[in-house]
Amino acid sequence: MGFINSIKEWLKEGQKELKALQEKKYWERVESTANDLNRISLSCKRCNTLSVPVFGTESHYCCLKCGNRFISKKHEFALKYDNSADRYVYRCPHYNDSIEYMKKYHLK
Ligand SMILES: [Zn+2]
Repeated sequence: MGFINSIKEWLKEGQKELKALQEKKYWERVESTANDLNRISLSCKRCNTLSVPVFGTESHYCCLKCGNRFISKKHEFALKYDNSADRYVYRCPHYNDSIEYMKKYHLK
């Protein structure tokens, strides 16, 4: 009995570690996407704050502070070629978290 339980405990620990690792990887991706977004962001003409590419659009931007939306140069953020679908698709499951990250760390 004790032996089984210790195996169960050991498995539980392993799952916890795996989850923590997946979470760590996820937040690393969030951070790296935030840095990418920061690089291709423009300045808001209204308030001069960072304006990020709007996910799913070719050339739309949205200001992180006042929400001003405008169209400017093509950013093609998160546009990737999908081999199986044989077309370009927008893909960035952690976009919203990256935006939150930017609001926290990239805005003065
Ligand atoms: Zn603005």
